[in-house]
Amino acid sequence: YLCLMRLSVGLALLVASTEAYTRCAPALLRVQRHGASPPPLVLRSTPPLASVAAAATALVSAPSRPVLNAVLLASTVSALVLWLVRVLNTPSRVYDRAANSVGREYDAWTSEGILEYYWGEHIHLGYYEEGQRKGPFYGGKDFIQAKYDFIDRMLDFSKAAEPANVLDVGCGIGGTSRYLAKKFPQASVTGITISPEQQQRATSLAAERGIPNAKFELVDALNMKFADNTFDFVWACESGEHMPDKEKYVQEMARVLKPGGRVVIATWCQREETPEFTPSERKTLDYLYGEWTHPYFISIDEYARIMQRTGVLEQVATDDWAAQTIPAWRHSVWVGVWDPWPVARRPRLWWKTIRDAWCLEVMHRAFTGGVMQYGMMT
Ligand code: SAH
Repeated sequence: YLCLMRLSVGLALLVASTEAYTRCAPALLRVQRHGASPPPLVLRSTPPLASVAAAATALVSAPSRPVLNAVLLASTVSALVLWLVRVLNTPSRVYDRAANSVGREYDAWTSEGILEYYWGEHIHLGYYEEGQRKGPFYGGKDFIQAKYDFIDRMLDFSKAAEPANVLDVGCGIGGTSRYLAKKFPQASVTGITISPEQQQRATSLAAERGIPNAKFELVDALNMKFADNTFDFVWACESGEHMPDKEKYVQEMARVLKPGGRVVIATWCQREETPEFTPSERKTLDYLYGEWTHPYFISIDEYARIMQRTGVLEQVATDDWAAQTIPAWRHSVWVGVWDPWPVARRPRLWWKTIRDAWCLEVMHRAFTGGVMQYGMMT
């Protein structure tokens, strides 16, 4: 806010001084040319109220118009900036299960194609090694390669070896399902989503890439049609954020998992609630819930407790990959800055893109500040 206010006041002063200069320059030139001396300065004591009245009169009188213009401009710009910040900070895509807000938003993101253009086939954060965490160049790390690196790391973390039947819970447009299907050609991979547009896009990309062992279905993760003990590897990457019932989400994954199988979950989490959230943390969380249609988040430890409560998942291991993934937030913005044309030529998408960029920045700050954590559970 402060930066924007300073910018607007600075801008106003610049305009005022330019205008003042334009008005005074001819008179100054005349004085220089004709050698006229300025009138002597007469000092008089004036009552304070009279001075204020005089100053006010001077302000609105013709010779002070630059000052008045500057004040008006500064207040207008400040008011606009404050209004804009307020609008941007008001969540616009609040979670609504009855209206399937999650499916609707992913449908829109898929048909617009902007997310796919910048993020590729993966709707999750990337993995950055230590020398790759500083923008704007991120040690030369490719934005999309970072996402593939994330999958490889998540696979290592899961300790799954040669799975035969894989379930990708919340598969997006299927980037990971296809990656796993290619990596394990003997395996059969099923990706599920609640966005019809995503299911179609995922299916057509699998056909285009010639990957017959990956298929995509429209299935609600909280009510899966699959029989108990169907899969030996259950993968869930950044879908838990959207689940209105985290316990059911984990229980369903545990139910369809074969004994001896592996589950791996990567998801945005909030920190444990002790100490209590500060008002500013609460405000940030409420915004993050409501801007990208999340009902709420939970902590990494809460996920671990839920996993243990299933009675089926044993030896639960967790980690926080905030440091490894934080660069992805601002890197997303930088890829747009380097290559703005796909958005620039479609004015219809400008406002949504501004909102998304704003949310990316709030996410960055929430993870850096510690109110958010990157949960890895297996
Ligand atoms: N895992 C994917 C996509 C993450 S985006 C990737 O890494 O690219 C979140 C995904 O979760 C979307 O595909 C969304 O449709 C899906 N999702 C959210 N809620 C869901 C639900 N209740 N059932 C099934 N999928 C869901």
